[in-house]
Amino acid sequence: MAKIAINIATGSLQKEEIIVGIDLGTTNSLIAVIHPETKQPIVLKEHNAHALVPSVIYFDENGQVEVGETAKAFLETHPERTVFSAKRLMGKSYNDIKKNESFFSYKIIDDNTDSLVKVQLGNQFYSPVELSSLILKELKKRAEHILKTPVNKAVITVPAYFNDAQRQATRDAGKLAGLDVLRIINEPTAASLAYGLGIQKKTNDSELIAVYDFGGGTFDISILRITDGIFEVLSTNGDTYLGGDDFDNVIIQHWCQQLGFSLEQLHTNKNFTQTLRIKAETAKKYLSTADLFEDMIDGRPLVLSKGEFEELIATLVSRTLDCCAMAIKDAGIKKSEIDSIIMVGGTTRVPFLKQAVSDFFGKMVNDKVNPDEVVALGAAIQADILAGNNKDVLLLDVTPLSLGIETAGGLMDVLIPRNTKIPSSASRQYTTQMDGQASMRISVFQGERDLVIDNRKLAEFNLTNIPGMPAGMAKVDIRFLINADGILMVSAKELRSGVSQQIEVKPQYGLTDEAVEKMLLDSITHAQDDIAIRALTEARTEGEQLLKTTEKFLQKNLTLLTQEELLQSAAAMQALQLAITMENKDLIHQKTEELNNISRPYAERIMDEAIGRAMSGKKI
Ligand code: AMP
Repeated sequence: MAKIAINIATGSLQKEEIIVGIDLGTTNSLIAVIHPETKQPIVLKEHNAHALVPSVIYFDENGQVEVGETAKAFLETHPERTVFSAKRLMGKSYNDIKKNESFFSYKIIDDNTDSLVKVQLGNQFYSPVELSSLILKELKKRAEHILKTPVNKAVITVPAYFNDAQRQATRDAGKLAGLDVLRIINEPTAASLAYGLGIQKKTNDSELIAVYDFGGGTFDISILRITDGIFEVLSTNGDTYLGGDDFDNVIIQHWCQQLGFSLEQLHTNKNFTQTLRIKAETAKKYLSTADLFEDMIDGRPLVLSKGEFEELIATLVSRTLDCCAMAIKDAGIKKSEIDSIIMVGGTTRVPFLKQAVSDFFGKMVNDKVNPDEVVALGAAIQADILAGNNKDVLLLDVTPLSLGIETAGGLMDVLIPRNTKIPSSASRQYTTQMDGQASMRISVFQGERDLVIDNRKLAEFNLTNIPGMPAGMAKVDIRFLINADGILMVSAKELRSGVSQQIEVKPQYGLTDEAVEKMLLDSITHAQDDIAIRALTEARTEGEQLLKTTEKFLQKNLTLLTQEELLQSAAAMQALQLAITMENKDLIHQKTEELNNISRPYAERIMDEAIGRAMSGKKI
């Protein structure tokens, strides 16, 4: 039975609002919902039409936009006005994509900076967010047409390796398309959900899942651990420029050799190339179920046997297996521990590939769910959970990297550790280091290393107008709030004065996916060094602080100290300073303690005297 609700503004009855699941893909996108009667996820498609909407946008001379199958036809004829693979540009700067620029046939603004890229089409400039929003708008329009109801809420999937900038960009694209994006979820998480993994009620065991996603233009492998409905991405690997299109390309090259064509000749004959490309893709798909493909081009035969095709793609397939091996290594697990292997993406329909993956993992792969639809179906399941229709399921994501702030000595102070379930919040109090310090710089970092310099800076802001107070008096409460999409809000409040400030973390752009992965690996490799550096830095900071306060105390109370106390203090301070210069942690600790032992008795004496003076003559 469908749920009903009452609109309190109008008093009218209204149907429960629908939440759709969207797979916003590099090559194709699609939209899915939970069927109101069967309660099963289904992809939305017009009668007789394909559910896949090619992620292609064509802009005509008058600025009219076409999205999907019709736009795809313009890829060969009007490449400069047809945008494909906009997803590859999400949250990226020109510097990020520079080395792959030749991949794009449209103009990407070359401003050689770290600011976000724009695409030029005629006289107009578009951001990747705007481009993606056009695809989302088209999907929304189709869904509304099919469901005969407005669609305003969605769950959108992104690759597991997407960083904050790319996730935020995806969310913005949704907003621009008129969608309230309730959740951004990882594609492998969605695929696992579609296979019913992680949905079962509480089990104490965790499951290890490998999600092998080979689409039209990209290859990803993700290793997930699911425990009690919590999806943890242990590692990701892949090749963002390897896909089913490369299978088409090796077929084209093979046929060119057979026909005696050079690749240069292909470049000059666009219509011929397009025909050949279409035939290559047809052959590839055909050979998933047949043994021999035969056709004609310009009156000449085009032939490809299954065996020849498999030979042509063998090295491409083995490249994906190398990525799998690396992902397994990074996840710190053994291949044999993996419980299920899930196949995602149209390319995984190739039987040779399926077999190669099964052989590699030593286990049959899961391929029951349509590999083109599996991610969108999973997104629809997540949408249903968010709508509260599936109360048995607890579905949580975790932060992939630790989040923290820089403290004295350039140390990383982690507020939200890696693998924390989100949404989540944490707060901690900090204080000023100097007398009268009126502002405090708060630098937010993401990463696993002990020194912030080795981590990734996400944001920085100044908490200003802190009223003048002695060092250590101000109480600054720093709070991290990470929402369900993994987007971070940082706020700082000086508790004595109430001065406060907050920012939504706009991640710094220009960090490649490889760099994020490297950060995780580095944290393991450098763990020993980091511990040593942290210990030294902490010792140094403590020592320096003690030197500063002792010096201040001595200056203020010079007349109240004995000659011996002064000489002893000066010697101990010198020894501590020397230990700091020598960067000898144990010596710093020892000298800090010595100085403390010397100064404590006279500091206490002077304090007592001061209190006594203050109290004398006062009635209680
Ligand atoms: P996706 O990005 O997941 O939509 O993947 C699309 C890719 O899958 C394209 O390269 C298609 O040519 C490829 N593909 C679709 N069906 C088949 C099939 N039956 N056999 C081989 N490749 C296929």
